[in-house]
Amino acid sequence: MGSSGACARCDEEVESVLHCIRDCTCAKEIWTLLGFDVNSRSFQLDFRSWFELHCPKLISGKEGPKAEYLFVLGTWFCWKYRNEHILGDKRSTKWDINLNIRTMVEICFNAFWEATSSVPKISRLVGWVKPVAGTIKINTDGSALGNPERAGFGGVCRDEKGHWHCGFSGSIGQSTNMLAELAAIRAGLQIGSGMSGGNIVLETDSLEAIRLIEKENSHYHIYGAIIEDIQVMFQTYPRWRITHVLREGNQCADFMAKLGSSNDEEYVVWEDPPDGISLMLLADRISTLEIEIFVTPTIEIRIEDANCCSIFFRSSCVFAISGSNGAIPYRVSK
Ligand SMILES: [Zn+2]
Repeated sequence: MGSSGACARCDEEVESVLHCIRDCTCAKEIWTLLGFDVNSRSFQLDFRSWFELHCPKLISGKEGPKAEYLFVLGTWFCWKYRNEHILGDKRSTKWDINLNIRTMVEICFNAFWEATSSVPKISRLVGWVKPVAGTIKINTDGSALGNPERAGFGGVCRDEKGHWHCGFSGSIGQSTNMLAELAAIRAGLQIGSGMSGGNIVLETDSLEAIRLIEKENSHYHIYGAIIEDIQVMFQTYPRWRITHVLREGNQCADFMAKLGSSNDEEYVVWEDPPDGISLMLLADRISTLEIEIFVTPTIEIRIEDANCCSIFFRSSCVFAISGSNGAIPYRVSK
């Protein structure tokens, strides 16, 4: 904290911990984006009461609803945002922070909550999965080399045998990762609309992009125009679907997106695979791994005193990985 004690961001108050994570005008902007009423009485409570009010279950060591995760991650990211602002050379926008928090909420909630509900096991396919017969799968990805920095998008269209149908890549200049993800999805749908017949499944590794597209009113969102373009495409082709894939299953699209962000062309369609992607395509075609995660998660919030709080996310995991390519399944404990 600064030597004068005044907040280096707003210069309005002495910078206490509570000021950093809640009372600073910069922190309040984040809380407002997250849907909290910063003018309510709860935002005038002392440190402990404020935590106890917003995450009563998590604080007592139980499982909490999503709103509690939003609160806990909100405090942590406000702290991170403040440090970035004062100490770092890279500064995220409040919009980026908002998206980061919401994405983390999904990840934490799914990992912790699902794991402790009736089935203590998460089973996910890792790796690319071929679409059913008669369907083209379009994997898309965005890439920002820095955020915001040179950004691009890319994608790969493959059939039920995993054969290359076509690919695409493009640059969108200086921009954020989220806009790159959305540009990739829009480009994927546009290329799909030019294909005769068949069903389309579009796969992205951006949960946040899916959330934005599925939300009805995006009119006031910073990327509202492109989100609406995508929504219109899905309305035009009601049988098309969009699904989430883990990054491990989206490596070919990631390759195309990096190609897009490292070149200046606005849009390129690849009839044949570009150099360097062939091994990834082959790997996708021959092997699909399934990973089962047995998790015992805990979240621990410790309020040490009026000005200090520690948040721990802990989990002990056992991974079981099995392969559909004839490999012998093996287990790893961690
Ligand atoms: Zn301040």
